[in-house]
Amino acid sequence: MKNICILGATGSIGTQALEVIASCEELKLHSFSYHRNDALADDIVQRYGPCRAVRTSDPSCNTSEMLLSLVEDPEVDIVLHAVTGTLGIKAAISALRAGKTLALANKETLVAAGDLVMRENTDKLIPVDSEHSAIYQCLGCSLSNPDLDGIVLTASGGPFRHLSEEVIASKRAEDALKHPNWNMGRKISIDSATMMNKGLEIIEAMHLFGLSPDLIEVVVHPESIIHSMVRFRDGSLIAELSRPSMKQPIALALTGQKRMPISRLRFSELRALTFEEPDPVRFPCLALAVEAARAGGIIPAVMNAANEVAVEAYLAHRIGFYDISRIVERTMDCTTNQSLSCLEQLEEQIARAKECAALSMRAFIQ
Ligand code: MG
Repeated sequence: MKNICILGATGSIGTQALEVIASCEELKLHSFSYHRNDALADDIVQRYGPCRAVRTSDPSCNTSEMLLSLVEDPEVDIVLHAVTGTLGIKAAISALRAGKTLALANKETLVAAGDLVMRENTDKLIPVDSEHSAIYQCLGCSLSNPDLDGIVLTASGGPFRHLSEEVIASKRAEDALKHPNWNMGRKISIDSATMMNKGLEIIEAMHLFGLSPDLIEVVVHPESIIHSMVRFRDGSLIAELSRPSMKQPIALALTGQKRMPISRLRFSELRALTFEEPDPVRFPCLALAVEAARAGGIIPAVMNAANEVAVEAYLAHRIGFYDISRIVERTMDCTTNQSLSCLEQLEEQIARAKECAALSMRAFIQ
């Protein structure tokens, strides 16, 4: 029996992980955190009988300490990490230090603090993002291979893939929330529409698999059947294909690479697998993320923080679609890069970037 702690149990990843736990006798929900969905949290307590539940939006408690005590509990074997923000970074590092299996679904942790996280012992780090899980699987459930010569990250292209720049510019948040293939949370749905999500995944992959950004290629693959590919030195490409479902990477991470029956892909039902180059003009966030990946240091964290501020404003209808990339770019431009040395410095730089993003946003507020 494996005891699971879910950080962010009421979100999209968390609820799908609960379904995986319900369908696997070897997995037990030991504890969880949630942000503020009390009704769903009560339901989880009733149904799964965990030992502990922590509400992270309570102003009265020290959230950071509570999260760390969940993660470090000696009874916990696996931490499924689906919480955003710098609180999430601390939790990820302490899970690795406590020797837990860390199923990492939160990409911001690696984007902002990859330099710090990858300094820890990462033998028990398993990526849950579908692309990175695909790469991990292509490498035989490992983060490295001496013959690895690059990766190809596939992108669905998001809900605005077909549209002209002019039409995209007029799109509102509710249009961006309708994703053709994946059912996701609000923030990541907007990131998918701007393609910042793929940019964050480049940085995530760079850290996880120890690759230079120049060895990471992005290809738009609207069917979302190939979840990513690895390229070996001899020119071989190995791909992972399955129906788009987050349950598959979640189950793989929670069961320790056991294969549960999730869904079956019948090739005869597929019409075609198509590929196209991403368009940096219509989706400038992707180019900004590549720039941040190459710069390294604190720039990826700054970019991510500015993006968080801008996406929140876009969701609230305060700014337009292309203002997101403008705000991110201005914030990156007004930052002097430095190498990342500790969490305190990172938190300071993230706070500074958020202030800078909020300031530059004033020019765009409608
Ligand atoms: Mg993904």
